[in-house]
Amino acid sequence: MRPSVWPIVVLIGDSSQSLSAQRPLSPSSSWIAYLPSDTVENYLKAIYELAQADSRGEAAVGEVAKTLGVTPGSVSSMLKRLHQQRLAKYERYGGVQLTAKGKQTAAAVLRRHGIIETFLVRVLKIDWAEVHEEAERLEHAISDRVLEKLDAFLGHPAFDPHGEAIPDAQGNLRTRREEPLARCTAGQERTVSRVYEPDGALLRLLETHGLVPGAAVNIESVDATTGVVVVGVRGKELLQLSLEKANRVFVAAG
Ligand SMILES: [Zn+2]
Repeated sequence: MRPSVWPIVVLIGDSSQSLSAQRPLSPSSSWIAYLPSDTVENYLKAIYELAQADSRGEAAVGEVAKTLGVTPGSVSSMLKRLHQQRLAKYERYGGVQLTAKGKQTAAAVLRRHGIIETFLVRVLKIDWAEVHEEAERLEHAISDRVLEKLDAFLGHPAFDPHGEAIPDAQGNLRTRREEPLARCTAGQERTVSRVYEPDGALLRLLETHGLVPGAAVNIESVDATTGVVVVGVRGKELLQLSLEKANRVFVAAG
């Protein structure tokens, strides 16, 4: 017979909490004490992505605030909470780093996000410029059971429709060498690897010109003085991008 307290522990949680408790990527030992909310998940995801792009593996408080559209003050108080829960390391006036537990939780959220986006685009044929918003909502609600079924159904995709790497069930990411279009030089031939997904207008423009992940692109000119990058995909019209936009499109060699 089960100990009598066990069903009570399960019943006091809401449904998302009991699902969280079953997530395979989550550290199991301290799981009852730590149950992530949507907000915590969004913070961990933002810090994870910012830290990945940083050479010291840190995220600046101001950048976290900008990404999440909140004030630096509210970021500070949340970071203290994440620090107490051993999800992040945060020193006042310093940057923030995720602990192994924080990284694991963030990777689980990114995995749900990427698999959901892939499903929405590939199966439901929803516009790739619109699925990011939808996935932001669904990523907090989907159960592990449905997620793993979806992953198998889609053939275990390693990248989402925008070229973002999807962590595997162990939280590992497939990495690639890539650089923004803005850093390329005229005459180079590259393959589009990833585009900045929250910019829906940019995604629509890129699609019209064939600049989607996997497409071979020629860099026609890069003019630092005028801030204009001209690129082209064979069979499509040339596209002029500002340096700001060209920093949001990533390419790989070959
Ligand atoms: Zn997305």
